[in-house]
Amino acid sequence: MNVFGTVKTSINTREAAERYGVEVNRHGKALCPFHNDRHPSLFVDDDHYHCFACGEHGDVIDFTSKLHGLSLYDAAKKLAYDFGITQDKPPDKAVQEKLNKKSEARRLRENEKLCFSALMEYYKLLQEWMILYAPKTPEETPHDRFIQACHHLSYVEYLVDLLVMGDSYERTEVIDMMMTDGKLKKLQTYLKKMKKEEKACERRKDFAR
Ligand SMILES: [Zn+2]
Repeated sequence: MNVFGTVKTSINTREAAERYGVEVNRHGKALCPFHNDRHPSLFVDDDHYHCFACGEHGDVIDFTSKLHGLSLYDAAKKLAYDFGITQDKPPDKAVQEKLNKKSEARRLRENEKLCFSALMEYYKLLQEWMILYAPKTPEETPHDRFIQACHHLSYVEYLVDLLVMGDSYERTEVIDMMMTDGKLKKLQTYLKKMKKEEKACERRKDFAR
C-alpha cells in the first residue's frame, strides 16, 4: 500500500484534527479552521470532515494539506511521521515553518477582534460628540466634531452591526476592508490621539480648579 492508503486506513480524521489543534466536541463538531467560523460548523467524523458553512470537505489527508498549506503528498508524509507510521521525517523544513505560522482563519479571528474593538470605540466617541458638540442654537456654527459625528456615525454603526450580526462572509468583508490601506491602524492611531487630547483636556480642567 502506498503512503496515501496507509495513512487513510490507519489515521482517524478526528484524532488528526485534535492533534493539529482543532478541538472537536463530543458531537463531532468543531470551529472550522477554513473560514471565519463563530459557531462550530465543521463536522469531523472518523474518515472524513465536512463544513456546513463553507463547504470544505475531504479525508484526513485533505484536512492536513489544507490546514498546513501542504501538497497532498507532503500532508500524507507528515501524517505518517506524526502518527508514528514511518520514521521518515516529513519532506522539508517548510513543513515545520508552515505549522508554526498561524492559520489563516485564526488570523482572521484576531483581526476581527481588533476591528470590532476599534470600531466600537469610535462609535462610542462619535455618539459622545454628537451630544457634547451639538450646536446650542440654530445660528451657531456647528463644531467640527459634531459634523464628523453626523457624517460617520451611521456608517460606523452599520459596520459594527455587520460584525455582530452578519454572516461569516459579511464579517470577512468588513475585516478585509478595514485591513486594506492600513485603515485599522489609522483608526487605532486616531483613537489613541483623541484619548490623549481628552486626558490633556481633563488635566487642564483640574488645573483650573
Ligand atoms: Zn468552514
